[in-house]
Amino acid sequence: MSITSNLRKELEKIPENISLVAVSKFHSVNDILEAYHAGQRIFGESRTQELLPKYEVLPKDIEWHFIGHLQSNKVKYIIPFIHTIQSVDSFKLMEEINKSAQYTGKTVNIFLQIHIAQEENKFGFSYDECRNMLSVGKWKELKSIRICGLMGMATFTEDRQRIRKEYRELFHFFQEMKSTYLMNEPCFKELSMGMSDDCIIAIEEGSTMVRIGTGIFGPRI
Ligand SMILES: *Cc1c(COP(=O)(O)O)cnc(C)c1O
Repeated sequence: MSITSNLRKELEKIPENISLVAVSKFHSVNDILEAYHAGQRIFGESRTQELLPKYEVLPKDIEWHFIGHLQSNKVKYIIPFIHTIQSVDSFKLMEEINKSAQYTGKTVNIFLQIHIAQEENKFGFSYDECRNMLSVGKWKELKSIRICGLMGMATFTEDRQRIRKEYRELFHFFQEMKSTYLMNEPCFKELSMGMSDDCIIAIEEGSTMVRIGTGIFGPRI
């Protein structure tokens, strides 16, 4: 199977109003170009040291989304070109992104990553940490970032009901935030949930954006 035909097959599964992020981590510039020439423009990467050289050589109309754990000291390298940072998991990181964005003279879109899985090694705010951070209100002073959505990764499990439950809870939390702390943020519309193996469930549970790697590019080596 080619990347082009994989991409077409994935797009058939996804309703038109849902965005597809092609997760290209560990895949080559040539693989990304194949997807690009098939029409894909949104790509996701999870490591700055991999994203920076790819950004350099790839077409500049690619919309890059950062989806991995981001260290504060790496923020400044991606700010000049990043479209959205989906994996924002602390207020400290929000401050760092804001500082760097302000210095660069731009506004950066962020998603708050929510920890919905059972695994401890995954990152993100707990529901209560997120409520607390937003209720304190200091984030409103960060004028160079825009909170545009939430991102979550379900538990890595065969238990489909468990995955569905985690996504359903995240959808309810998304609606809660939209009607409370973030009700005056017009940009807050995206719920990024769903990967290759569980994107159908995620879409059924209210996802607006899926992040698909293996389904498009094949296994990561
Ligand atoms: C790697 C990754 C994906 C893509 O996973 P696949 O199973 O290959 O589709 C999606 N989201 C995040 C945050 C990732 O790190």
